[in-house]
Amino acid sequence: MSTILPARHQVPLPLDRIILRDPPGAEAIEMDVVIVGAGPAGLACAIELARLVKRDQAAGGGMPDVGIAVLEKAGSLGEHSLSGAVVNPRAMRELFPDRAPSDFPFRQPVADEAVYFMTEGRSQRLPTPPTMHNAGYYTASLCEIVRWLGERAEEAGVNLFAGFPVDALLVDGTAVRGVRTTPSGLTRDGGRTGDYTEPTDLTARVTVLAEGTRGLLTQAWRQWEQVGSTNPSLFAIGVKEVWECARPLDRVIHTLGWPLPNDAFGGSFFYPLGERQVALGLVVGLDYHEAALDVHELLQRFKLHPLIRPYLDGGKLLEWGAKTIPEGGYYALPERRCGDGVVITGDAAGFVDVPSLKGIHYAMQSGIFAARAIFDGLKRGDTSRSALAAYDRMVDESYIVADLHRTRNMRLAFKDGLYVGGFKAGLMTLTSGRFPSARIEMPEDAATPRHVAPAEPFAPDGKLTFGKLDAVFKSGNATRDTIPSHLLVGPDVSAEVADFYSHVCPAGVYERVGDELRVNPPNCVDCKATDVLGPRWTPREGGSGPKYRLM
Ligand SMILES: Cc1cc2nc3c(=O)[nH]c(=O)nc-3n(C[C@H](O)[C@H](O)[C@H](O)COP(=O)(O)OP(=O)(O)OC[C@H]3O[C@@H](n4cnc5c(N)ncnc54)[C@H](O)[C@@H]3O)c2cc1C
Ligand code: SF4
Repeated sequence: MSTILPARHQVPLPLDRIILRDPPGAEAIEMDVVIVGAGPAGLACAIELARLVKRDQAAGGGMPDVGIAVLEKAGSLGEHSLSGAVVNPRAMRELFPDRAPSDFPFRQPVADEAVYFMTEGRSQRLPTPPTMHNAGYYTASLCEIVRWLGERAEEAGVNLFAGFPVDALLVDGTAVRGVRTTPSGLTRDGGRTGDYTEPTDLTARVTVLAEGTRGLLTQAWRQWEQVGSTNPSLFAIGVKEVWECARPLDRVIHTLGWPLPNDAFGGSFFYPLGERQVALGLVVGLDYHEAALDVHELLQRFKLHPLIRPYLDGGKLLEWGAKTIPEGGYYALPERRCGDGVVITGDAAGFVDVPSLKGIHYAMQSGIFAARAIFDGLKRGDTSRSALAAYDRMVDESYIVADLHRTRNMRLAFKDGLYVGGFKAGLMTLTSGRFPSARIEMPEDAATPRHVAPAEPFAPDGKLTFGKLDAVFKSGNATRDTIPSHLLVGPDVSAEVADFYSHVCPAGVYERVGDELRVNPPNCVDCKATDVLGPRWTPREGGSGPKYRLM
C-alpha cells in the first residue's frame, strides 16, 4: 500500500510577505490598539479595554482617549464565525456583570444531555464523562454571539472595520508596530480592476492577534520570533450543518465511534437551537491515517443513522460550514503569548479544551486579560514585551491554563486509536489528569503518513445528504469568481496527492481531474484544513468567503 506524507508537499510560510520591515505608508491610520479578528477573543478585548479607559477617565485617572480598531476579514460581523456551540457563560458574566443571563445572545439552557457510542445502524448510551457535562451552560450560534458583542463594542466606542483582512505585520526591530490589510479589486492574474483599492496601513502601540484557529499572522510571528511550544500545534476539522428540524431535540448529544474509523480521533455533536432548529457536526483530528477520509462525506452518512435521521427527515438544511479547531491543548501552548507591541489571544494561542469541546469562554477570558495588561501598559507608556508579560501571567494563573493542564494528555492519548485512547482518557478523568501523566509526544499533523486506498463511493440524495458544491452554496459563499488565488500550492502535485487534497477540503476547492490538480479558490470557506495538511491559505479580498448567519 502506498502512503503520502503531507509535510513533503507543503510550501513554507512566506515570511517575507507577512513580516514587513517597511515603514508605514504616508496615509497610515494611527491607532493605539489594533485587534485582528472580530471573534469572541477580539471583541471581548476591545470591550474591556474601552471600558477600562472610560472608567479611568471618569475617575479622573488622566488616561487620554485610546483609539481601538478591530479588523475583520468577513464582510460583516459574524459571517466567518462557526462553532458548535454549547457555551460556558463564565466569561460573558465577567464581561457584563450587570446583565442577566437572559440578556445574553444564547438560544436555550442545556436541559439534558447524552453521550452515545455509535456503530453503523446502532447506538449505545454511555455514562457522560465528567469532562463532557454541560449543566448550567447554553446552546448558541457563534454568529449571533459575535453580532451581539459587536453591538456592545460599538456602543463602547470601538472602531469596527468589517471586510478588512490583515495580511501582514509591520515591524520595527523586534516590535510589532501595526498591520497592513489586503488590497481588493485585483484580477485573476494580479492586474487591477476599476474597483481596485490599495492596502491600508494601521499603526498601533499594541497589536492583538485574535485571528482564531491556525492564524496566519500568529504562525508567522512565532516563526520570526522563534516562539516554540513543548508539542507542536495540532488541529481537527469540524463540518457543521444547521437544520430546521422535523421534531424538536430535547437534549445535547455527543457521539463517538461510527462513522469515524477506529484509528481517528473525533466525534459528533447534535445540539438543540430552540424548538425549530438543530445544529449537528462531525469533528475529526487531522492526524487521521486514511488519505481518502472525507469529513464532509462522513457527516452526510452520519445523518442517515437511526439516532439522527428522525429529527431531520422532512426538515430543511438551512446552513452549512466548516472550520478547524486547535487541538494541541496544554503542551501545544506557545511558550509566550506576548512580545514587543503584540499579544496572542483565543484560538490563535490554542486556548481550547478538547475533551469538553470548549473554546468560546477561554477566548473571551483571554481577550479580557489582554485588555487589562494593555491598559496598564498604555497607562505607564510601556508596551514592551516585559510590560505585556502581565497578560501571560494572568492567563497562566487562571482557569484557562488550569483546565487545559487537567486534560493535558486526553486528546493525545488517542494517538493510539479509539480503544487504547478511550481507556487512558478514562483513567485520566478518574485521576484529574494525574495518571497516566507523562507527556505524550506528538508529531505535527502533516508528519503523519496517510495510507492510500480507494474511497467508498457516496451519492448524495439532495434531500438529507448533499455534495460539496450544494454545501458551499448553503454557506452563503458569494466570492467574486475572478479573484486571484489566495492558496499557495506546492509544485508537482501527483494524482494521489490531488486526490488527498480533494478529500481534506470540505468545500470542493481541490479536485482531481485526470491526473492533475484543479483548484477552485472562490469555493474556499476559510476553514484552514489544507493550511494544516496541504496548500497554504492566505487572506484575500475583504468580504470573500462564507456568509454564515446561524453557525
Ligand atoms: C466545529 C466546532 C465546534 C465547536 N464547538 C464549541 C462549543 O460547543 N463550545 C465552545 O465553547 N467552543 C466550541 N468551539 C471552539 C470555539 O468556536 C472557538 O474556540 C472560538 O470561536 C475561538 O474564538 P476566537 O475569537 O479566538 O476565534 P474565532 O471565533 O475563530 O474568531 C477569529 C476571527 O478572526 C477573523 N480573522 C482571521 N484571520 C483574519 C485576518 N487575517 N484578518 C482579519 N480577520 C481575520 C476570522 O474571520 C474570525 O472572525 C468549536 C469550534 C468548532 C470549529
Ligand atoms: S481550501 Fe479553503 S475551504 Fe478548502 S480546506 Fe483549505 S481553507 Fe478549507
